[in-house]
Amino acid sequence: MKEAEIGLIGLGTMGAALALNIADNGFDIAVWNRTTARTREFHAGAGELAPRIIPTESLKELVESIKQPRAIILMVPAGDAVDEQIAALRPLLGPQDLIIDAGNANFRDTNRRASEAAGPFLGIGVSGGETGARYGPSIMGGGDKEHWDRVYPVLSAISAKYEGAPCATWMGEAGAGHFVKAVHNGIEYADMQMIAEIYGIMRDGMGMTASAIGEVFDRWNNGVLQSYLIEISGKVAGTVDAATGKPLLDVIVDAAGQKGTGRWTVIEAQHLGTPVPAIDAAVTARNLSSRREERATGQALFGAGSGALAQGTLDMANLENALIAGKIMCYAQGFSMIAAASDQFGWALPLPEIAKVWREGCIIRSAMLNDMASALEDEPTRNLLFAPSFAEQVKAAQEDLRLTVIESARAGLAAPALSSSLAWFDTMRRARGTANMIQGQRDFFGLHGFARLDTGATGQHGPWAE
Ligand code: NDP
Repeated sequence: MKEAEIGLIGLGTMGAALALNIADNGFDIAVWNRTTARTREFHAGAGELAPRIIPTESLKELVESIKQPRAIILMVPAGDAVDEQIAALRPLLGPQDLIIDAGNANFRDTNRRASEAAGPFLGIGVSGGETGARYGPSIMGGGDKEHWDRVYPVLSAISAKYEGAPCATWMGEAGAGHFVKAVHNGIEYADMQMIAEIYGIMRDGMGMTASAIGEVFDRWNNGVLQSYLIEISGKVAGTVDAATGKPLLDVIVDAAGQKGTGRWTVIEAQHLGTPVPAIDAAVTARNLSSRREERATGQALFGAGSGALAQGTLDMANLENALIAGKIMCYAQGFSMIAAASDQFGWALPLPEIAKVWREGCIIRSAMLNDMASALEDEPTRNLLFAPSFAEQVKAAQEDLRLTVIESARAGLAAPALSSSLAWFDTMRRARGTANMIQGQRDFFGLHGFARLDTGATGQHGPWAE
């Protein structure tokens, strides 16, 4: 009987696409799905790849179909489903057999699973949605390097390639891969939110139609902002709804879904003491977006603001530059967080390699990431904001970001991710901040002590008791 190179559990959107990708790259793969009908349907629809796929109807059959030492990918929803599958699978496996969780696990769960594992275990982050999984995702690996090396031939073959280099990189021990994937998703949230804010300014502030907005995004995609997210935003805005003949965007409900990775990123950033305000704003905006009834009540009570910008206050160049500045700031926040986690968790997270692995295959792929990889290669520990090439771009674009934030606020158009990035930037470029007042207040009510600027003495107190 033919033995597969690798196995896969979970033939949903991602698992099915990943299995076809693996088969397409010349590897035999055994698959199993909780619902057997789905396995049969998947195999029947695999076309010329079907001979490389071994459909199985029990976990035992799956395990017996894979060559030893085995490697089995789990592509099921993060959380309990992963623990259940590991518990069901492990007793059927040998001591060298490897389980790979390729879903969007919380990295703390991956840390736990790695430490509890009765055998080899990897947690890998896979980005690129269904198309990426099918034709080349970006893969962020975590766990023992020797186990990663064992499956690297398959993972590198199926991954996206940037100028021939595989976008599949080992990030570090245990949950390192899932941690990097979570920050990737957090940045994705912020990038998408900033694009949505600019869309809102064009729609409500400038009265532009969806198709006209789509043309602007298409144009921007030929410049500094060239990226998958700008590209698809242009396509989304330019699509007409077949049922109504209206722009599709105009019939889509304005409530955004989420599965948790953005929220985890924000929570971890706060634990690490390296805030990611653009991501925070993006997660908050998604949460508020789903409060549609409350927002309607708010509009009835307060009005929605004028909405319209005064003629000539903002042009497309202002908006493009605002997005460039906001994007650089958001990535600088994300990479700072990764650097802090690397120290805190004892990982040696490879910052330049992270920028490189995101250059192709993943949702946040963009032209800018190649420059970010170069800047991080020059000096991995420096804040990206201060890397000369990005500092120059921010100097050139920050006034447009400021103007965009001012004018959108004046018109009552919420631009939380752009605004919070600007506030972050203004904080990060002012040597003398305002926390001396906070320290004075803390000492006044709680005798927490403060440090003096003049003498450097710490643990000082004000004369409050007098
Ligand atoms: P789907 O909902 O499309 O598929 C889920 C799969 O898991 C199905 O095959 C389902 O089987 C199986 N499953 C669900 N619950 C269980 C369980 N308790 N035990 C065993 N099998 C179970 O999910 P996706 O493919 O979209 O996502 C899979 C993972 O990949 C998630 O962690 C997700 O966050 C992550 N991911 C998703 C991306 C995307 O763009 N969709 C991108 C990157 C990562 P059944 O047919 O029996 O229901």
